[in-house]
Amino acid sequence: MKVGIDLGTTHCSVAVHDRSTGKTDIIPNGFGKDMTPSVICFLDDGEILIGEDAKDMQAGGAGVIAASFKRSMGDTDFSVEAFGQTYGAERLSSMLLEKLIGDAEERLGGSIGSAVITVPAYFNDFQRKATIRAGEACGIDVLKIINEPTAAAISYGYNRAADKTVMVYDLGGGTFDVTLVKVESGNISVLGTDGNHILGGKDWDSVISKHVCDLFEDEFGVDPREDESAKNELIVAAENYKKVLSKADNVAIQLRYEGNTGKYTLTRDEFEIKTQHLLDATRDVIAELMEGLGIGWEEIDEVLLVGGSSRMPQVAKFLRRMTGKDNVVEHSDTDLAVAKGAAIVAELYASDKTGLTDRKVVDVTAHSLGALTVSIDGKRYINEIMIKKNSKLPAKTRKPFGIGPGNLTDRIEVFTLQGESRDPLECHVLAKMVITGFCNVGSGTTIDIEYTYDENGVVKVNAYQDGEQLEAAAEVLPEDISWMGGSPQDRPSDAVIVKNIAVCVDLSRSMTSCLDDVKGQISDFVNSVADENTNISLIGFGDKVKVVRELTSDPDVIITALDDLKVNMCGRGTDGSPLATAHSVLSSKPGAKMMLVLTDGIWGKRDKAVSESLACRGDGVDIMAIGFAEADLSFLRQIATVEEGAMYTALDRLGDAFSTIATAINTGATGLRQGK
Ligand code: AMP
Repeated sequence: MKVGIDLGTTHCSVAVHDRSTGKTDIIPNGFGKDMTPSVICFLDDGEILIGEDAKDMQAGGAGVIAASFKRSMGDTDFSVEAFGQTYGAERLSSMLLEKLIGDAEERLGGSIGSAVITVPAYFNDFQRKATIRAGEACGIDVLKIINEPTAAAISYGYNRAADKTVMVYDLGGGTFDVTLVKVESGNISVLGTDGNHILGGKDWDSVISKHVCDLFEDEFGVDPREDESAKNELIVAAENYKKVLSKADNVAIQLRYEGNTGKYTLTRDEFEIKTQHLLDATRDVIAELMEGLGIGWEEIDEVLLVGGSSRMPQVAKFLRRMTGKDNVVEHSDTDLAVAKGAAIVAELYASDKTGLTDRKVVDVTAHSLGALTVSIDGKRYINEIMIKKNSKLPAKTRKPFGIGPGNLTDRIEVFTLQGESRDPLECHVLAKMVITGFCNVGSGTTIDIEYTYDENGVVKVNAYQDGEQLEAAAEVLPEDISWMGGSPQDRPSDAVIVKNIAVCVDLSRSMTSCLDDVKGQISDFVNSVADENTNISLIGFGDKVKVVRELTSDPDVIITALDDLKVNMCGRGTDGSPLATAHSVLSSKPGAKMMLVLTDGIWGKRDKAVSESLACRGDGVDIMAIGFAEADLSFLRQIATVEEGAMYTALDRLGDAFSTIATAINTGATGLRQGK
């Protein structure tokens, strides 16, 4: 059997849809009730109560209570400690789901194998994945995760003959969501969704608390808000006064504090005036969504009210004023519409898994999805949006990115961001993927990054180079992501990168007068890049080529070898070119491979050197070249694999050229770069 489950913050319900009758029914819980409180109570004798029983205990103050844990789905810092055990939000949700399913199975007299579970539209990727895992952990197949407003629209739109554009206005306890939906021949397409997730019924409660406290303070000169327990009591009482005002024209309020008793009356009219700004805040969200979608009020056929707070009469009144028509539907079973919509989807729409294809639901992304990217000027990180908010699901985008001139490896980190801002720190950092195995040919390297948002709103990241899929592995997100707000050059690298550097020094006769200087500069360079992960080799060249020292991570070995360098010492070396020799020293070494060529003259066999440079490039060896005296910059540019890696300098500025290269090697700024 398949069911729909509204896994709510305060209450849950389970529904089933019967294909033969076309009816959707709520499955009552063990107490015969349509809704089960989302509360779990741990008792000291090891017993665990879930739902109604737990709620009773909560009121009586017994045991350890877990409630409202849905708000913490996906938050690894949240936990409830109970008698030596720790429960995270996912585990608590799974326990609650198990109870709901157990009760429903008893009622239906059969086993439930699969379900559609609803989540708030604003749930991010972590929260959606956590919800799927919570369902799977209690042994059911989670057919689909759907957004609550979409589910409400489905339960409303299913079996409606007329085609309509419907606005779902969902005002809950702490959140507001608006969703525009097109119902066409029973098919549902979500056009767009938006929300304010810090606006809800509790803000209306606060207006009442404040009003009463102000009156009390005026009358008695003391403020009940100064006392924590008096304040909490008043918050609970204010919610009840608010609910009374949904039915009556006024409410009698009584507040006792420090021996004083204040008695007041609040009329519905007064309450509505005092809370108008809150409704206006919902109007702003709606206006932005409609504007973004290019939809005007005249195109909205009906407004569907969802969420407990939409029971306040001012909500329907306000929306009627906005639509200018009498088309606001006060859904008769607001609380149950979500579970019913999920049940309909479970039975009729879960086509991909069941083969039932008679109806379609097209949902949209509630958030934009982007990649952390280094800006074109290299000075900051930005959120490069890959899939825009309100794109139809499933959605897929592939874009080419550069890898940055400082990246000396075949490894790149891709951080996925959810949010609308260009500033990464204003977005939610969803995941870190490490892409490896691409061919790094220096600054011209591009890789394609592909983002996929599946039907459940769950995100996947893939990477390709020249059409070949690359290795991509998820890694735990770093705890500190504040570097995303700074300069890419300052980012501490958390990856251990082995670097192999072949330093090729021109030892032809023309070097005679400057060799001692050059040796001193190379020695400083070696010291500035040396660490246990950096291997350096020393190669001399003139007419012939000689490997003076093979790769070593001991800088002293290289520095001693430098001392022994002499002009023309390669006479007894091998034929060939420095590039080919350095290439063979570096080839097959794991990690980054770099060659630094230092020359003061014009080379013979230049074409051969250029083709050897291409071979190095193909092997992921970066070549940097520093020339001075008679050296030819245009030739050096031809052999350097990194555009900025060819430099011509005066002998007395050689130190600057070396330190530029040392900085590039040491910072190795990794990360995707904007543009190709
Ligand atoms: P929900 O998150 O959809 O369950 O909505 C919970 C919110 O609805 C809470 O802020 C409740 O105070 C509010 N609520 C429930 N019933 C009413 C009512 N009759 N009048 C006003 N607010 C209500």
